[in-house]
Amino acid sequence: MTNEKIVKGQTVLVRGKRIFEIGPSKRIAVPQNARVIDGTGAYLMPGLADMHMHTRDDWNEWLSDWPVSPLHLYLVNGVTTIRCLNPHGDTFGYVLRWRDKINNGKLSGPTIYTSGPTIYGPVDNPKKIVLEQKAKGFDLIKLYSFLSKDEFHEAMITAKQAGMYTAGHIPFQVGLEGVLSEGMDEIAHIEELSFEFVDFDRNKGLTGREWMPYVIKTAYQQVKPYISLNMEELDEKFGGLVSSVATKVHDANAPVCTTLFLDEVIVEKLYEPEQFLSKPENRYLPRKYRAAFRQGREKHQMQFRGGEDFAPFKRTIDRILLKYLKEAEVLFVLGTDAGTGWMGLVPGFSIHDELRILTENGFTPYEAIKTGTVNAAIVVEEMNRNGDFGTIDIGKRADLILVEDNPLEDVANIKNILGVMASGIWYDKTMLQEFID
Ligand SMILES: [Zn+2]
Repeated sequence: MTNEKIVKGQTVLVRGKRIFEIGPSKRIAVPQNARVIDGTGAYLMPGLADMHMHTRDDWNEWLSDWPVSPLHLYLVNGVTTIRCLNPHGDTFGYVLRWRDKINNGKLSGPTIYTSGPTIYGPVDNPKKIVLEQKAKGFDLIKLYSFLSKDEFHEAMITAKQAGMYTAGHIPFQVGLEGVLSEGMDEIAHIEELSFEFVDFDRNKGLTGREWMPYVIKTAYQQVKPYISLNMEELDEKFGGLVSSVATKVHDANAPVCTTLFLDEVIVEKLYEPEQFLSKPENRYLPRKYRAAFRQGREKHQMQFRGGEDFAPFKRTIDRILLKYLKEAEVLFVLGTDAGTGWMGLVPGFSIHDELRILTENGFTPYEAIKTGTVNAAIVVEEMNRNGDFGTIDIGKRADLILVEDNPLEDVANIKNILGVMASGIWYDKTMLQEFID
């Protein structure tokens, strides 16, 4: 992933967590006591990162509602780095303990970076919260839609002074220009930008969760005349507007997390529920979630009831956003929003769908893979100077995937995994299979 070509006949030497030598197999002297992994005929690529996901405190517990620990689901799918943008649970310290245990080789899983608990708004003392999260050792601050201008400003000023990276939603009361001028480092979803096209009263004096129904309802009323238009027609009508939003994001150097597969999953849940339930990987969703879905009590089934046609429309708008953000050369990072257990996204497996959607929408396989490797490392470097992964290079973290066929021809080839190395620990195909058996 340092450039778009296959380097043939190489040997990669790993010591501890890091790659320490690479060269032609004929020339490299393999140390006597080394464990040799034969990759003849296969392709070695950097491990992938899911840069927008959520951990939960019930993942790793005995008798967990998850059939398989998501930490293992990530490894099985070649995801060697995860960034949690809000740990879920009754307490939040667990994610820091997992992060440290994985770093020390005491727990099997991908390298974890994590924000503190999301700062939702309304909130009494944003400054205090930001400083507490920094003191506890969280890697970044996650900001949410319901913050007022003042709360957002105070959180941003404090984070900047404390040297904390910030990522989040675009608070309804602040808007894109406000967010960019305050210097929020990263936008957590492409879909956040779609609210820029809705004409709503940002000073309406609502608080917290009152905002979401108001904005969604207003949006739904405004898009009704266009809701049956296809992508080309919508692009023709609104392309210029979308392009100007994309330019603003580019000019502010703000990376954007993709999280596009969720749009597709929502449409599937509403229109093809049987197909959704019968997908092989969906057996790894929490049992309670599957039960709630069968009873029609699932999050999006309830949210979109009576307004189902909004879902395919929203999917199209987000894809138009993707197109113009790409044209504007915005830095994308691959993210799925998986892990909460209540949206129908399977940790690990969903990263391959996220890659597929990028290649279905104008990305070459190389460009798509970059969002989950090279670009993820750029963002983590900016976040906390730990961006030493994402390429197969001397000194980089030994996060590697061995695949049977060329991923630069088709990103679906990444699903055919022969083995995964995470921070220098090798999991062969048998071990990965045991995780999910
Ligand atoms: Zn999320």
